[in-house]
Amino acid sequence: MTKYMGIQILLVEDEEPIREMIRFALSREGFDLLEAGDVQTARNQLADHKPELLIVDWMLPDSSGVELIRGLRRDPVKQELPVIMLTARSKESDKVQGLDSGADDYMTKPVAIRELLARINALLRRSQGHQSTDVIFIDPLTLDLASHRLLINNENVHIGQTEFRLLNFFMTHPDRVYSRTQLLDFVWGQNVYVEERTVDVHILRLRKLLKPFGADKMLQTVRSAGYRFAKQVINGKNING
Ligand code: CA
Repeated sequence: MTKYMGIQILLVEDEEPIREMIRFALSREGFDLLEAGDVQTARNQLADHKPELLIVDWMLPDSSGVELIRGLRRDPVKQELPVIMLTARSKESDKVQGLDSGADDYMTKPVAIRELLARINALLRRSQGHQSTDVIFIDPLTLDLASHRLLINNENVHIGQTEFRLLNFFMTHPDRVYSRTQLLDFVWGQNVYVEERTVDVHILRLRKLLKPFGADKMLQTVRSAGYRFAKQVINGKNING
């Protein structure tokens, strides 16, 4: 048993010898390895599994690793997945482009396994630390994840399970518009069949809870797009535009 036992990593690399070397090293550490040799296979793997980290080669046969990562960063459910980019390129401009696309870290080939493990370790620590944050505060709301409580201006407010999960999602993904379908995927789960208007029902309940504190203005309807949780609302106007 190792501390990595059961942690799933998706390795996207078309060169079999490199894949084999990484597979060997990571499996030995206890990681559960998913593999893809091209972008399409990687997307399929991401739809079927929930890896905790991605290692992505830049040059892939059907598209580029950069494209894969860009798509990932637009996906509300998977946008925070840590990504290490691998590449034969080592020019500074390439590195900048790799990081710009949303990779969290960057390694040049040939891959040094010990260094790769150290970087995986650092990224996992960061993302797991992020998940275990047990209090989220966005003025005037405090969401206590451990005790499942909502405090508004330090006042305890009774909140239902679904509204709690919905608010948790919004507070960790503020200032972005999410469609009803995206909210269903994230808050209710991708394999659950629920009608889209269910979202509206729970948004309505949530607004009702927030209204006495004037915080219902944070939960904005964006016409024909969905909903947005605005972090900073002054006089009912979202100062971010
Ligand atoms: Ca390649």
